[in-house]
Amino acid sequence: SQHNPTLTWTQYTKTLEQQTRRNVDITMKLRHAIAADQLALYYQPQVDLASGRIVSTEALLRWHHPQAGFIPPDQFIPLAEQSQLIGPIGDWVIRQACRDLRAWHDAGIPVTPVSINLSLIQFQLGSVPNSVHKALSDYDIAPELLTLEITESVFEQHCQALQHDLEALGTMGVRLSLDDFGTGYSSLGHLKDYFFDEIKIDKSFISQLDDNPYPQAIVKAVIVIAEAIGADVVAEGLELTSQIAIVRQLGCSKGQGYHYSRPIPEPRWRQLLMEQTSL
Ligand code: C2E
Ligand code: CA
Ligand code: CA
Ligand code: CA
Repeated sequence: SQHNPTLTWTQYTKTLEQQTRRNVDITMKLRHAIAADQLALYYQPQVDLASGRIVSTEALLRWHHPQAGFIPPDQFIPLAEQSQLIGPIGDWVIRQACRDLRAWHDAGIPVTPVSINLSLIQFQLGSVPNSVHKALSDYDIAPELLTLEITESVFEQHCQALQHDLEALGTMGVRLSLDDFGTGYSSLGHLKDYFFDEIKIDKSFISQLDDNPYPQAIVKAVIVIAEAIGADVVAEGLELTSQIAIVRQLGCSKGQGYHYSRPIPEPRWRQLLMEQTSL
């Protein structure tokens, strides 16, 4: 790895070169991903922790390249952002989520709200409120069925459009969710400047709940703050029953994680929704 201290300078440079070449290669492939129909949304259930019932879902982007195989979002999203391909890719995500909502509705499946992830670069490119408005109206989707997750780190960079766009989106009636809460530099500051319907507790806190009193205190504080400002709380990264018991005891009512389900392809998600309905 790049951080291996036994690497010589020449080896290090070579590793960097390989990395750069790989990134250029991935970016070139990504340019064709939409037209070549290589992108898909997977869905991960969000459940009511008391009943275990699915109440909503997060859409997570997947890219399968016929030769390179499955490329994880942590690898290609940053490259999409650097190359501004996140513009068209982000628009594709917005529209696909609305297309899927429409298809479920038309198939007679009781629809639950869908959360999608947005990148700061999409706001900088200036397209978000228009794209959302157009997708909602093209597929005739009620705005409250769509939740936009933005990661807390967006506030670390200045973006002129952000404040205005978030207000416009709020007025439109879509829900706004603050993702990865607690990982940024000034978590509380953002809550006073913006309105959020939902706060997501980052999985790094959840994974430490078992063996450490501090994460518990932080999670508790987040839940109290969320209650005070009228926002819902979602715990992410729930893998163990012990973690679920702790967040429930701390007052969190909604969560997602591998304990319930990994993100699954749309046909399986649709199946899950139908099975739950028939219970
Ligand atoms: P995120 O928004 O924080 O999404 C949660 C990530 O945690 C997802 O990884 C999900 O599969 C994973 N996860 C869910 N439950 C568990 C669990 O119990 N344990 C663990 N260890 N992980 C869990 P994924 O799908 O690989 O996505 C990674 C990141 O890529 C996302 O983090 C998000 O920042 C970004 N991303 C994904 N889809 C999109 C998209 O459509 N647009 C944008 N801009 N970013 C996206
Ligand atoms: Ca998210
Ligand atoms: Ca998150
Ligand atoms: Ca994250």
